[in-house]
Amino acid sequence: MRERWDIAVVGAGASGLMAARCAGLLGKKKDRELSVILLEGNPKPGKKLLATGNGRCNLTNLALSQQHYHGDREALPPFLERYSVKRLTRELEEMGILTVADDQGRVYPRNLQATAVLQALWFGCEEAGVNLRSGDPVERAEPDSQGFLLHMRSGENILAERCILAVGGMASPRHSCGSFGEKLCKDLGHSFLPCRPALAPILCESQMLSALKGMRCRCEAALLEEGRLVAKERGEVIFASKALSGICVFNLSSLLSPEGKKHSEISLDLVEDLAEEEVFAYLKKLCRRHPERACRELFGGLINLKVGREVVKSLEIDGSRPLSSLSKEELRLAAQRVKDLRFMVQGVAPFEQAQVTAGGVPLCEVELRTMESKRQKGLYLAGELLNVNGDCGGYNLHWAFLSGLCAGENAAASFLERERGETEYAEAF
Ligand SMILES: Cc1cc2nc3c(=O)[nH]c(=O)nc-3n(C[C@H](O)[C@H](O)[C@H](O)COP(=O)(O)OP(=O)(O)OC[C@H]3O[C@@H](n4cnc5c(N)ncnc54)[C@H](O)[C@@H]3O)c2cc1C
Repeated sequence: MRERWDIAVVGAGASGLMAARCAGLLGKKKDRELSVILLEGNPKPGKKLLATGNGRCNLTNLALSQQHYHGDREALPPFLERYSVKRLTRELEEMGILTVADDQGRVYPRNLQATAVLQALWFGCEEAGVNLRSGDPVERAEPDSQGFLLHMRSGENILAERCILAVGGMASPRHSCGSFGEKLCKDLGHSFLPCRPALAPILCESQMLSALKGMRCRCEAALLEEGRLVAKERGEVIFASKALSGICVFNLSSLLSPEGKKHSEISLDLVEDLAEEEVFAYLKKLCRRHPERACRELFGGLINLKVGREVVKSLEIDGSRPLSSLSKEELRLAAQRVKDLRFMVQGVAPFEQAQVTAGGVPLCEVELRTMESKRQKGLYLAGELLNVNGDCGGYNLHWAFLSGLCAGENAAASFLERERGETEYAEAF
């Protein structure tokens, strides 16, 4: 069986829902009811969206700029200028979603509910006349003289004149029906850069980690490659048994060289607001004032107690010695260590623990003004499928929503243009 549609959107995540809604709405605005079908492999749409921002959905960020993206970010500034935070919040407001920003510029729905965002997107799709078919993934795609032929797992075939691929990436596979992205893109003539997990814990080797499992502390985390500083991030680090986690570490994970060959380390500054000299002076004073105290409590007034004791162990100082026995050199080393606690990087945690995918379709293969493929006319791409990944803080949803919006509007506009052209031609001759 072969059904015919004006526009098919593959994937009902953040980008696909927005694309389908905007395609349908544009048709309505032009008094032409387009037939739009949204194809989702999961039983229900938007499963990943519900998990975003711990269920609160961090929609975008007031600090939006190219600097917060990785992958093919050089091409992004004109796109981000057109498809700004204002544009997104206006679109959300049209759907009935008001937003609030926190003190770090992270924008959320006013009621802090991802469910409300998904519901509004779905209502928007219904109002735009979008048809949903879920629980049946598209497994193969081929260009056809009349558009695109999509082969579903159920054996059904769908023919669509315009096709929007919004199938997401490989991160957090439990929220997706499984990534057919690479296959579908290659079927339709695109290349696909190797994918790796990003915004994920960084795997490290250290005995200290198992002792600190579950502990959290504020710090400045730095990524070093062959001793050279790559980037620094401030925030809360979370210790896991074989990894470091937390937003600041997630952001650094996106910067680790894909080849993983370089000697990489994470350095934690556990007292980022104090200079090493200040820490040294504090420790000297502490030892003078409390000579009888045990060395294991050297950092007790400075950082988390448990973390402090592990740092003392890492210095190979016997914890039962009195503070009075510490030499000036030992105190100097202690001050250095708490400002620069090193962990050898073993790699990035797998896709199961990652929030986004680095890699995918190179941005140079799409026209960024419209999101239309440069390889296949009538094909549009949006969202995480493309080689753009952002920092934590709303940047990934911003890209997904607005690349979806751009793809949806332009797919519909080009369909209507083709139709108008044919009518004018028929009327003229
Ligand atoms: C736990 C978690 C929390 C996050 N929190 C945030 C946050 O707060 N803010 C932020 O900006 N980003 C966040 N992200 C990242 C963000 O969710 C993604 O970047 C974004 O959802 C990508 O949107 P997308 O539409 O491209 O892909 P997805 O949302 O993954 O949607 C793709 C959809 O396509 C479907 N699909 C795939 N293949 C097929 C096929 N062959 N046929 C039919 N359907 C198919 C999938 O089932 C899926 O529903 C988070 C990610 C995770 C995992």
